[in-house]
Amino acid sequence: MISRLLSVLALGAGLTLAAADAPKDPQIQQITAEISPANIEATIRKLVSFKTRHTLSDTASADTGIGAARNWIKSELERYSRESGGRLVVEFDAFHQPPSPPRLPQGAEIVNVVATLPGTQPESRERVYVISGHYDSRSLAIMDLDTFAPGANDDGSGTAAVMELARVMSKHQFDATLVFVTVAAEEQGLNGSTHWAKTAKEKGVNVAAMFTNDIVGNTLREDGTHDRSHVRVFAEGVPPLPTLPEEVLTQLKTGGENDFPTRQLARLIESVGARYVPQLPVKVIYRRDRYLRGGDHSPFLDAGFAAVRFTEPREAFTRQHENVRVENGVQYGDLPEFVDFAYIADVARVDAAALAELASAPASPHGVEVEAIKLENDTTLRWEPNTEPDLAGYRIVWRDTTAPQWEHAIDVAKDVTRYTVAGISKDNEIFGVEAVDTAGHASPAVYPKPRRQP
Ligand SMILES: [Zn+2]
Repeated sequence: MISRLLSVLALGAGLTLAAADAPKDPQIQQITAEISPANIEATIRKLVSFKTRHTLSDTASADTGIGAARNWIKSELERYSRESGGRLVVEFDAFHQPPSPPRLPQGAEIVNVVATLPGTQPESRERVYVISGHYDSRSLAIMDLDTFAPGANDDGSGTAAVMELARVMSKHQFDATLVFVTVAAEEQGLNGSTHWAKTAKEKGVNVAAMFTNDIVGNTLREDGTHDRSHVRVFAEGVPPLPTLPEEVLTQLKTGGENDFPTRQLARLIESVGARYVPQLPVKVIYRRDRYLRGGDHSPFLDAGFAAVRFTEPREAFTRQHENVRVENGVQYGDLPEFVDFAYIADVARVDAAALAELASAPASPHGVEVEAIKLENDTTLRWEPNTEPDLAGYRIVWRDTTAPQWEHAIDVAKDVTRYTVAGISKDNEIFGVEAVDTAGHASPAVYPKPRRQP
């Protein structure tokens, strides 16, 4: 974990914005305190009681199969909405998936359960943060609809975390909009998340960030010891497009390969997590996902949105996608007794703190540029003004080119849109600009494009 070593200068008339020892937002502290391991355990045990949540399993039964599971998830989310004044809007997102062998040879009706908490600041409401877990499960054979497939950890853990976040966060107000999604058909080919991400892209929804929580509940290692030391956050670097657009090439030419929006998001999650959930450090992994595996953040990345995956430190492969059985003294299967509910609660607290910071902060600044007009050892940055009424100003951040996390910052007032960092050369450091609100919430940083004209 890298702490944020800030060299903050007070500029302008009495300007004092947040530094390393930033005062904590009482609302975010309250949210993380309200997240309950007991609720997460109850949700996972209920999900397991449906026997299987295979995407093609029974949809008519009241107590078995994916239909019963999604009806129960929806009714729970509706209860949270009633308990919080009805602002949480709960709905099914149902669609027909055409045949796609081998995992959906006949096609299927696929249903995501979506709970939206609209933002309360008009200037920020159209900015959307999505958090997902997948509620479908599977056993060993991908087309086996009947075998017990408890899916307590994969992905009962992520589903329970997202539902608990919806319950707790819907009691609070945020400037931007939060969308809590439990998706189906992850195991059949990421179909539920792909549908949501593609639809959002087609409608021009401003998805400013997406988190998926998938397999966030096992802490038991093969040797019988527990590892609760961190949560992994998988964060892709350069978008792996067949042809790179001009703006991506420009960023690569200036050494910005580690500063695309997903990595800026990961920096924010790591630093906000350290502030509010110090007992569970975030370990950022510079990679889209694990080898041989996929997740619901991928369709969002492919649609051009910033997206990360949260996963436990060390996975137990005897308990994922396995039929429940004992073989040579080893218990196989994704059972609740192997799930660490307190650990999931801490993961959910990191999610909550980062989401609350993002949805309270202004949008990241637009049009951020670094002047590359003449040879010099100063660094001049400029950007377009933000429009939020609670904007306090901007934070110029920088770090050594080999450092993972921001090391220095200067805060400037809200009427400033061009600033020279004297004596610090852009040749030797990576710069970024964040927008900060009056309560100290900061946006993810933006990497500057070079500007050739004065
Ligand atoms: Zn999964």
